[in-house]
Amino acid sequence: MLDVRGLSAAYRLHRALDEVTLRVNAGELVVILGANGAGKSTLLKAIAGLLPACGEITLDGEPLHALPARLRVEAGIALVPEGRGIFGELTVRENLLLGAFPKRARDAEAQSLARVLQLFPRLAERMRQTVRTMSGGEQQMVAIGRALMSAPRLLLLDEPSLGLSPLMCGELFRALARIRETGVSILLVEQNAKRSLAIADRGYLLENGRIRGSGEARQLLDDPVVQAAYLGICPTTQLAKVPQPTVRSGQW
Ligand code: ATP
Repeated sequence: MLDVRGLSAAYRLHRALDEVTLRVNAGELVVILGANGAGKSTLLKAIAGLLPACGEITLDGEPLHALPARLRVEAGIALVPEGRGIFGELTVRENLLLGAFPKRARDAEAQSLARVLQLFPRLAERMRQTVRTMSGGEQQMVAIGRALMSAPRLLLLDEPSLGLSPLMCGELFRALARIRETGVSILLVEQNAKRSLAIADRGYLLENGRIRGSGEARQLLDDPVVQAAYLGICPTTQLAKVPQPTVRSGQW
């Protein structure tokens, strides 16, 4: 599916991504965990083609790194950026239909719309509502729905739970699990490490633009080092000493 090898990106002299290598297998949900400023958004933007980056990106063996963003969408990559990137003055329906603009999505527009409304029934009741008048959670549904309208093979999600109530978060993570079940692969950047690892297959730890560790989601959830660094759980035996994240190099 997605293979990223040696991906580096910089903002002027600041190297925000340093030789990142990762993989998302077909049908997998993979989470990227990292502190503020670790380079998570930069990584997703570089994969989507919104930032210049060096390295290799392939989707099912097809090289993407030289393609502009719109051709990466045609190849099957859809990004839901942090802050959602939806059109607040347009209705839900208009936002969703804009998502089907890529050539790969046009013929399947009606089926995609039906699938999105089945996934988010709340949107079906709000098709004529102006998006800026909706709650944060509803707007996130519109953003994800619009990305799904492009018939992606891989969905990139940048902190979708940011600012949502616990109830809405639960609904969102259940929806992500259902999207994965339909065969769409997901690369998810999340602050909510506990909830995202609970639905993920695997995870990577990103620190200062570098991959510092990776593993099966269940292993990461149980790893005392990950618990201390990302889940806010302090091991009782090591209260005075917060350890550095485990490096499990060469696993993927
Ligand atoms: P957060 O969780 O806070 O969103 P992040 O892990 O997504 O953080 P990035 O937004 O990718 O981190 O930023 C990585 C680094 O690059 C940070 O040090 C940030 O200050 C810097 N950076 C990001 N965007 C720019 C930009 N447009 N110009 C200059 N530096 C930037």
